[in-house]
Amino acid sequence: MDVPNLFGLERSGLEAFFVERGAPRFHGSQAYRWMYARRVLDPRLWTDLSKALRETLASEARVDRGTIVGRAEAADGTVKYRIDLPGGGTVESVFMLQRERVTMCISSQVGCALACDFCLTGKMGLKRHLTPGEIVGQVTLLQDDRDLGDTPFNLVFMGMGEPLHNYDGVLGAFRILTDPEGLGMSRRRITVSTSGLVPEIERLSREPARPRLAVSLNATTDAVRERLMPVNKRWPIATLLAACRAWAKTTGEPFTLEYVLLEGVNDTDADVARLEKLLRANPAKLNLIPFNAVPGWLEYKPPSRERIVAIRDRLLAKDLRVSIRWSRGADARAACGQLAILGERP
Ligand code: SAH
Ligand code: SF4
Repeated sequence: MDVPNLFGLERSGLEAFFVERGAPRFHGSQAYRWMYARRVLDPRLWTDLSKALRETLASEARVDRGTIVGRAEAADGTVKYRIDLPGGGTVESVFMLQRERVTMCISSQVGCALACDFCLTGKMGLKRHLTPGEIVGQVTLLQDDRDLGDTPFNLVFMGMGEPLHNYDGVLGAFRILTDPEGLGMSRRRITVSTSGLVPEIERLSREPARPRLAVSLNATTDAVRERLMPVNKRWPIATLLAACRAWAKTTGEPFTLEYVLLEGVNDTDADVARLEKLLRANPAKLNLIPFNAVPGWLEYKPPSRERIVAIRDRLLAKDLRVSIRWSRGADARAACGQLAILGERP
């Protein structure tokens, strides 16, 4: 018989689990701390619970955060993980180390429904949403695999999937990640990247606590953006940017714009001029992401290195905040847009 999985439950869910079995409610908080703060996953080691209760847990519940089934290390030290999920299916998560700074890039869905033309995950279609436990699980698996201990790290929802399409899963995970009795992360270290789901951006801005926001702009005209990102038909650039400005106003916090550079598609002088105007009207930081190729699957090319630098310098010269996110881990196919579990690997 399939026993319930405790990993990913919030305090109230854990409390209910104990109460249903005739045990006191406060054991929920204890189990919560063992799983998320101490990362001890065997209930037999939860020493502040009675021996009998621990035995009951060991037979009537499981604590499953997923399993690492593959590691691919790139020359720059980036490591791409494949993780089998407790609920079935596989995702990829990426560990990055840059001058002592650790960043994890994690997945929120198996596949993605948004079908952006330049993204390998988009070619998979959406298989399903991840649960909070499957999201937090990726984080603690990487923490333990890299022996991070209590080293602080940044978390970006830039792996597989559109995080705001799986709003409840991501928010549930966010609460466990930021709870002082959970992983205790600062919410400022967590960034959600979205292709631009306007109603969810608005909803997130009204949450009592929320992650940082990054929005994938990727084009300066609706005609081009629509071609690259079908979501633009629903929420075109002007609507999206209005939602971003509203975010800044409601939350008092800035947002970031991301821009994947595609040669001949969105990197022209006219694009740069429009970007300049757009950034003046929308005080955001711009991250330029050179396109990461997946030959045979994605039909685009990144601009030359000189062109990428020239675009940045032109915007910098106008006093705009812009930086280039040189891809990391591309030789392990661990860079942005290269994550996918395809039936047949390209
Ligand atoms: N679904 C979310 C988060 C995951 S994608 C989103 O779209 O924002 C994270 C980032 O990778 C996005 O900015 C996306 O535009 C970018 N990206 C997708 N495919 C890429 C590729 N092949 N090369 C470079 N960046 C890519
Ligand atoms: Fe989905 Fe983001 Fe890829 Fe678009 S870029 S298909 S939204 S993961």
